[in-house]
Amino acid sequence: MNHTIVALATPFAPSAIGVLRLSGPEAFLVAKKALHFFSGALAEDCPRALAYGALMDGDRELDRVIVASFRAPHSYTGEDTVEISCHGNPFLLQQALCRLIACGARQAERGEFTKQAFLNGKLDLTEAEGVADLIAADSQRAADAALAQMKGQLSARLEEINTALLELISPLLAYVDYPDDEIGEIPPEELSLRLEDCLSRIRKLLASYSDGRKIRDGIATVIAGRPNAGKSSVMNRLIGYERSIVTDIPGTTRDTVEETITLSGLKLCLTDTAGLHQTDDHVEQLGVDRTRAALARAELILWVCDGAAATTPEEAAEFAALPSGAKKIVLLNKSDLGIFRQTKEFPGANAIVTVSAITGDGFDQLASLPARLLLDKPTENGELLCDLRHYQCLCRAEEALTRAVKNQRMTPDVLLADGEDALAAIGELTGKTVSEQIVTDIFSRFCVGK
Ligand code: GDP
Repeated sequence: MNHTIVALATPFAPSAIGVLRLSGPEAFLVAKKALHFFSGALAEDCPRALAYGALMDGDRELDRVIVASFRAPHSYTGEDTVEISCHGNPFLLQQALCRLIACGARQAERGEFTKQAFLNGKLDLTEAEGVADLIAADSQRAADAALAQMKGQLSARLEEINTALLELISPLLAYVDYPDDEIGEIPPEELSLRLEDCLSRIRKLLASYSDGRKIRDGIATVIAGRPNAGKSSVMNRLIGYERSIVTDIPGTTRDTVEETITLSGLKLCLTDTAGLHQTDDHVEQLGVDRTRAALARAELILWVCDGAAATTPEEAAEFAALPSGAKKIVLLNKSDLGIFRQTKEFPGANAIVTVSAITGDGFDQLASLPARLLLDKPTENGELLCDLRHYQCLCRAEEALTRAVKNQRMTPDVLLADGEDALAAIGELTGKTVSEQIVTDIFSRFCVGK
């Protein structure tokens, strides 16, 4: 298998520049075959270099390019790497890619550059996953969390736990191997303290998953209320354009309509619903059923009501029947027509905001509420567990250490087995002991060229 890989690192679309990336033991050789330098050269005698030249197909010039090169190990992948900035014409970029393949490189697979960086010890697995998350992040908070993970904030905490676990199990290992020697026995009180310390570090990280998941994946948010309350108008106001059809004919929105927005840097996955009401219309009834299904999954409900009209018994009953697990923000809409409702009409509401979907009044106050209602306090060091794989690995580490706490009065070999299980779970998380299949799965979720 040829280890020198090439891919376009930028989109195949007209743009100012398009960057082709080459990495591997023969990256400089391939580049030299394809390039003619006018000034500067490849970083063969220094860690990195910038040069200017032409990309050639035999005697024919394909493009004038800037060439950044990085000599191993001073590159992202840890291997010799060349990045060629071409003009961003898709047709030209395709020709350039073919040329580099003809000169000896192989088209890279998805995530192969980052996989190489992982295999060369440039990044651990959580840091590499942070890179993919940063590319995919679609809100400020998600980007901040991904950047922190990419920079190794989570890895640092995991390394601390790893070290504490190693210190715990090394004496046990010595004791199991040499039971007649005096070495290695940890006094029971100290053993107990150390186990509890490791457990509490793991539990702190586990507790951050609730926020991390919401920040990365967004908050499942449902806009619900009586027909004509202004749900679609609120949805349109939030997303900033006319996505849902607005009329004064009740039952216009028959199906659920989905969009994502960010409020105070937090992603909300919005669903505008058909409203909750009794109907004989079969199609409308399907819409109401979908509304109920969306409500059952919701983490946040924006309950829109016509604030200019009095509460009806049906509306009060529907509000009272909303799922208890979701946070509820009541939007007293149509404030431009006057508000004739009282807060006591909405028992169980987490917040009540007066708005007008027509004028936009009150939406500033709404902006900070979802983050305030749905996110916990950040951890001391601000690290977040955002990924289900990380959460599951840490759950296994926690289970193993919980068993160890129960088993601490048993023979050292029992305790050792629990400690090793915990260590293996952390190793799977950071990539130290992860299987080839898991690594392949993780990098297959990356884009080509990263
Ligand atoms: P939905 O059935 O709950 O989705 O309600 P719509 O968004 O379709 O709105 C129903 C009617 O109320 C339309 O005629 C809207 O123009 C009107 N409407 C919505 N929001 C406001 C508002 O804030 N003020 C006023 N005056 N009318 C509104």
